[in-house]
Amino acid sequence: MSPIDGLVFDLDGTVYLGEAALPGAVEALTELRRQNKQMLFVSNKPLEPREAYAAKLTRLGIPTLPDDVITSAYVLGYHLARHHADLALYVVGEPNLLDELRGHGLKILNEFLDQDDKEVIEPQGVDAVVIAFDRTLTYRKLNTAYQALVRGARFFATNADKACPMPGGGIPDAGGTIAALEHMTGRKLELLAGKPSHLIMNVALDRLGLPAERVMMVGDRLETDILMGHQAGMQTACTLTGASTRADALAASPAPHHIIETLIDLLPLAQN
Ligand SMILES: [Mg+2]
Repeated sequence: MSPIDGLVFDLDGTVYLGEAALPGAVEALTELRRQNKQMLFVSNKPLEPREAYAAKLTRLGIPTLPDDVITSAYVLGYHLARHHADLALYVVGEPNLLDELRGHGLKILNEFLDQDDKEVIEPQGVDAVVIAFDRTLTYRKLNTAYQALVRGARFFATNADKACPMPGGGIPDAGGTIAALEHMTGRKLELLAGKPSHLIMNVALDRLGLPAERVMMVGDRLETDILMGHQAGMQTACTLTGASTRADALAASPAPHHIIETLIDLLPLAQN
């Protein structure tokens, strides 16, 4: 296998769980950085800005810059700004996502449409609807998205997770909103930015500036992290600190290239 010059890390269940770094994570990442490996961190959550993830990692003992973090909101903004910069968007999402998309220079129509007091909203000028994890979801937002979609607007999403894991359970994520709008309109989601879409890995490779075979994707979920890494042509390592057991990893197709107990086990794998 090619030597490893860059690593892409999932966060929850891989680097930390809740407010605690997982065993070996701080030591492993400190050593990898000392060896000048390039590192990026990816999260499917569009709720918080990249600064918040960088601050959390730094607080846990892994000094990180916002530029080293990729969220599904960032990926969507990055992709739309390069390929669909002309589209005016209606966003079913929280304020951070609107800020993130505006930060990429994209045009957002929420401030006009959310003030409209008619029951059947004329979604004037909406070229694309963006669905995201939104804890402020209302009938009104759903209706605006619906009206735009039945009139032919493009249909994009940051992420499609059914539920977001929380201490003590989970809460509804964007998957149900996407499914509801697909059901109501007969349309299909056209573009997904987050895992398991290839877009998030494309942006990661773009940012690293490395060929895929010199990059390792490290994550705890076989059906997203490991699958995406494989599809992008990266080496993959499944850590057993999160969602997967050794038996799951051995039975997975595609199988991860490496199964590791904790991130410390990366050190011999990444040694050039
Ligand atoms: Mg994870």
